[in-house]
Amino acid sequence: MKLYDKKTYDFVAEVERSIAADTKKADEIAFLNQEKVLAAFLEHGVGQRHFAQTNGYGYDDIGRDTLGKVFADVFGAEAAIVSPQIVSGTHALTAALFGLLRPGDRLLSVSGEPYDTLKEAITGKGIGSLADYGVRYDSVALKDGKFDFDAIRREMETGVKVVFVGRSRGYEWRDALSVDEIGQLCKFVKDVDKDVIVMCDNCYGEFVDVKEPTQVGADIMAGSLIKNPGGGIAPTGGYICGKRDVVEQASFRLTSPSIGAEVGSYAYGYREFYQGFFMAPHVVVQAIKTSMLFGAAFDRLGYETMPKPGAVCRDIIRSIKFGSESELTEFVRAVQYSSPVDGNVTPFAWDMPGYGDKVIMAAGTFVAGASIELSADSPIREPYIGYLQGGITYEHGKIALLNCLTRLNAVK
Ligand SMILES: *Cc1c(COP(=O)(O)O)cnc(C)c1O
Repeated sequence: MKLYDKKTYDFVAEVERSIAADTKKADEIAFLNQEKVLAAFLEHGVGQRHFAQTNGYGYDDIGRDTLGKVFADVFGAEAAIVSPQIVSGTHALTAALFGLLRPGDRLLSVSGEPYDTLKEAITGKGIGSLADYGVRYDSVALKDGKFDFDAIRREMETGVKVVFVGRSRGYEWRDALSVDEIGQLCKFVKDVDKDVIVMCDNCYGEFVDVKEPTQVGADIMAGSLIKNPGGGIAPTGGYICGKRDVVEQASFRLTSPSIGAEVGSYAYGYREFYQGFFMAPHVVVQAIKTSMLFGAAFDRLGYETMPKPGAVCRDIIRSIKFGSESELTEFVRAVQYSSPVDGNVTPFAWDMPGYGDKVIMAAGTFVAGASIELSADSPIREPYIGYLQGGITYEHGKIALLNCLTRLNAVK
């Protein structure tokens, strides 16, 4: 079965040539990150014994503990919890927030509203959210896509315990924040009040740049292992890393205040987490090159995309504005129909736990819902933006683009 026609192939081949310089730069970042990851594996003497299955409490589980040390080193952090017991990115981030905030404390999000599922965990009613525990919350919107430092200072003057920043775009029409910008924020916050904790939602950001937020002053960050740092191989899980005492607070919430990160076993063994992390720099650049190709192609066909072609990628997502529910739906379905798993399934918009609008998702993935694998998702709301991310091989990303454009009959 041929998934595309010739005129679409020729069009995409031309687009591909036009972005060669940009994809080369992305490859160079992957090279530096691969070096960084390999150095950490060597430093910690990773060996077969670290992959072993463990069970029960998991005291002195060297597979778990060494994995944490490797993550911490690569991300320039003092400590990390990397665990299959963290069920998702939202869980990792929620554990960190609950670990750090006490009744009466105030949380300030400075990149607009946090990701939908996290917002619910912060402000939801009657579900054991931070708000239910008397933690106050406010947000400062970005101004023209940048931090609004004046407004942040004003908010901080009335008392803030944790400043929260979302690196990736979430379901917003904005670009992701660069690590340098996050570094400026950290410096600004600490200059205003050195005791304020800066926490970063790092989902979709890992290995996109040569530095991570914890290397430019963030006290703690968290993310999902079925996104970038799992390399398409980790079967589940999340991570939390940062300053030792801050991560420890999060660990008390993740398990129990009395046991923290001393426990946790995994009867299936840890090899996939190590191998996934090792492969992550390469896999992330597959996704970035896929994103670049989609962006350049849709831009040329007259669609508004974010980031603009030629702009540096700050996360692995490409936003494409479709303007109508029907075309957005067709796009998401075309991504599903290009998938190696469940490629014959038709996605429909549906109510999802933690999301305000109906969401349509294409995730024909080996690891269920893994968005480091080629996937697309969108809340059904104006202006009907499609968010495409992932692609564990660039070749697959390219074939999916060919199929999408052919199905949308976009190349005339
Ligand atoms: C994916 C994501 C999360 C966490 O989502 P999970 O589905 O719970 O892993 C949080 N923030 C952002 C920006 C994300 O992209």
